[in-house]
Amino acid sequence: MRPQSFGDVTIHRVLELEGPFMLPSEVFPNATAEALEPDMHWLLGHAICPDTGKLILPVQSYVVQTPDHTILIDTCVGCGKTSGLPDWNDRDDDTWLRNLAAAGFTIEDIDFVFCTHLHTDHSGWNTRLLDGRWVPTFPNATYILSKTEVDAFAAKDAPSYRENVLPILEAGQAQLVETDFALNDSITLIPTPGHTTGHVCVQIKSGGKTAIMIGDVIHSPIQLAHPDWSMVFDDDMDQAAATRIKLFEGLCDTDTLVLTAHLPSPSAGRLTGHAKRPYDFKYVEQD
Ligand SMILES: [Zn+2]
Repeated sequence: MRPQSFGDVTIHRVLELEGPFMLPSEVFPNATAEALEPDMHWLLGHAICPDTGKLILPVQSYVVQTPDHTILIDTCVGCGKTSGLPDWNDRDDDTWLRNLAAAGFTIEDIDFVFCTHLHTDHSGWNTRLLDGRWVPTFPNATYILSKTEVDAFAAKDAPSYRENVLPILEAGQAQLVETDFALNDSITLIPTPGHTTGHVCVQIKSGGKTAIMIGDVIHSPIQLAHPDWSMVFDDDMDQAAATRIKLFEGLCDTDTLVLTAHLPSPSAGRLTGHAKRPYDFKYVEQD
């Protein structure tokens, strides 16, 4: 995605990785070959890798530059983390930091960090290892975290909590908020439970226009054809589907710029209706 400007904000995408992830049937229990077949002509090459048959899935962040603040939304996998997924375990790859710099930002520039949720691919660069200790990556940032989400991950004592969240709390850099928190007139959270219990979208308004980072409300273009298909990592699959359909109904055929975590590059665009399936996604221009 090229940087997108409207009103007095500019939104940059910062990619960490993009590639074949898992087979559709491993991610979506309903994704049998028969069920996918009617859509394969547009999914193959775009959403499904022709060589491996796996989903094409990026992991990425967005940086929102406003006149007052530099705001980071989601922090990818990071380095040296215990993700639980072989491809993401103990990564030693600073691509994300280099891409942040290429977008024009240093770690000191970030004023606020938002996490749509606390899974390992959305909270990893919250922290980095310094002299054997996890410390906040962004020394000047306040991390805005859903209290519901933090409590749920604390109860699970997941590695992503110990590595990505606890060091932020201990450093006194976290602000725990309700899932409908507003930072100001421009930046607000929208509660979107299902994928996780405290999952939020981040809405950005400026100059009469709106963008929304929808996190893991959607994982693949397959769900444009099957918005009722939830995925295996959804905490509550029924709630995730209901949340997705409600959100999509509100966004469909509007001018709102939709920023996704995991739709293939360029990953951002506008949600529209489609004659043959519930939704289509009109992507913005690639880099
Ligand atoms: Zn994710």
